[in-house]
Amino acid sequence: MSARTGVVYLVGAGPGDPGLMTRRSLELIADADSIYYDRLIPDGALDGAREDAELIYVGKQPGVPSVPQDEIGERLTRAAKAGRSVVRLKGGDPFVFGRGGEEGEALRAAGVEFEVVPGVTAGVAATAYAGIPVTHRGDASAVAFVTGHEDPEKAETALDWPALAAFPGTLVFYMGVKRLSENAASLIEGGRDPEQPAAAIERGTWPGQRTVTATLGTIAASVEREAIKAPALIVIGDVAARREELHWLERRPLHGRTVVVTRARAQASGVAKTLQGLGAQVVELPAIRIESLTGTDEARAAAKAIGDYDLICLTSPNGVKLLFEAIAEAGLDARALAGATVAAIGPGTARALAAEGIAADVIPERFVAEALVEVLEDVEVEGKRVLIARAAEARDVLPDALRERGASVDVVALYETVREAPDEKAIAAAQGADYVTFTSSSTVKNLTEALGERFPAAARIVSIGPVTSETVRESGLEVAVEADRHDVDGLLSALLADAATH
Ligand code: SAH
Repeated sequence: MSARTGVVYLVGAGPGDPGLMTRRSLELIADADSIYYDRLIPDGALDGAREDAELIYVGKQPGVPSVPQDEIGERLTRAAKAGRSVVRLKGGDPFVFGRGGEEGEALRAAGVEFEVVPGVTAGVAATAYAGIPVTHRGDASAVAFVTGHEDPEKAETALDWPALAAFPGTLVFYMGVKRLSENAASLIEGGRDPEQPAAAIERGTWPGQRTVTATLGTIAASVEREAIKAPALIVIGDVAARREELHWLERRPLHGRTVVVTRARAQASGVAKTLQGLGAQVVELPAIRIESLTGTDEARAAAKAIGDYDLICLTSPNGVKLLFEAIAEAGLDARALAGATVAAIGPGTARALAAEGIAADVIPERFVAEALVEVLEDVEVEGKRVLIARAAEARDVLPDALRERGASVDVVALYETVREAPDEKAIAAAQGADYVTFTSSSTVKNLTEALGERFPAAARIVSIGPVTSETVRESGLEVAVEADRHDVDGLLSALLADAATH
């Protein structure tokens, strides 16, 4: 356990992109007894918390009553004194406009130990994602982080506007939207050049980040016109113009596109990550769930007798994973497959086999059952014992063909896909989608039935192959693109090719 009991960790969660959370923050979140968190923390930041951890929201939202700052300090103190390990999770960095200093002082005064875990602050992260370097050899040798919105309880302004106006470098304003026009005017009045480049970055590093560029003289009007809302940063300085050359986020191939992934959740994360890496906003809308059938008599018997088969055919990475679970339960391991020819329906399945220490002997070029039948023509099967380990609801093309050639075929269902009602929030998020991806007929059927009229009408449908496409058409929808290679990589390249022209 890396989190000490009786200690409060003041932890920065970074600016919004979950990938920018530090390793230390994730370790502490995974260990903590209690987590007190703010509003602007990344999606899924608490996913790794313990099942039995206490998760307490203490965020502030404009216009909504919130837990007063003193009370936060008191609650942290009480939790720590009760012997709990406590994470206080804040957006960005806890010590940059994050009240981490005040909370640390309150804890010290109460005799509670604390540690600070810095986070990536919005001032460098949102700017970097907007293609604005806060310093640059040519433009800025210094950068100032400034609050654009001081504590309203303070009687006098602590900001020396003429000094800020004269600051020889980049000015980055946090909380700067509300008072932007006053602040810009104060800077100009203090002598800063109204023609100096400026930018506003809304929801930096989150999906849907927006950037507006203007000059110091015009930024307030631009922000108003574009309806830029908090959380947003205002950048003033020559570096803001570097964005023209350095913007990169918007150049990613799927930037601005929303893609619906309909696979079962257990299989979706790899695809979702790849799509996100290409810039897409991903909505996971699984209509099916995978349920293991390795506990059935049939599956157990096949696993126990795995060494007796001459040919073993696997038709999905899931099947591989579950077959090896069943084999392990039977007290055996990969050595039991030593004498068999092993066939995989495609490279994903072959990779899953490789992870179990088995190099597949037969992999067809196309990834449908028919193609596997074709390549197996070179394998002698007459009188041989064949195991086909697969999903319960698969087609019978492969077993039929092998039986016809005189093989003794056992078909064992290792899993079934069961319906899962799609989540209402995900349905709403999917409404404006640009793409819906389908990787199997069962997802097409279940999703179209579950959504009915709420199927995102304008989305282009990407199908993994002809069988799935047929089901799409039977459901009254149109296939925009069909993958040439009938696996996930093929699906992704088909989507990318389509996105380049649509
Ligand atoms: N401790 C935080 C700042 C909290 S103050 C940090 O280190 O980043 C809140 C202000 O931070 C917002 O009003 C906004 O100006 C800025 N901010 C936080 N997250 C942001 C984001 N993702 N994009 C742009 N600005 C952000």
